[in-house]
Amino acid sequence: MGNDSSDHGKSTAKCPYRHLGIDPVGGPVELERLTRRERQVLLLLGTGMNNRELAAELGIAERTVKAHTARVLEKLRLPSRLEAAVASVLLHGLLCEDVRCVRHLDEERPEPLVA
Ligand SMILES: [Zn+2]
Repeated sequence: MGNDSSDHGKSTAKCPYRHLGIDPVGGPVELERLTRRERQVLLLLGTGMNNRELAAELGIAERTVKAHTARVLEKLRLPSRLEAAVASVLLHGLLCEDVRCVRHLDEERPEPLVA
């Protein structure tokens, strides 16, 4: 009694993702703010590629990659590309346009990925 260290007397657990503004469910709304190219950049950020590798993958200049990355961080209000990489992984299924992607295969029929 008299101890107001917990507001509701219940769990004091805080979702560590909350301050990042990353919520997989809220993803589609935020992603609408990105252009198609920015979504591609965001998806690739989750693979851990550096700017030079991203540039090669997308066939664009490295400084263009930097500009896209900056726009993605700004639009999604993420502090760094690390958080963007986390968002990329969480939103993979929404970002990925590859119809053969495992994320999309989940929804259809489970089929082993054999070349
Ligand atoms: Zn994919």
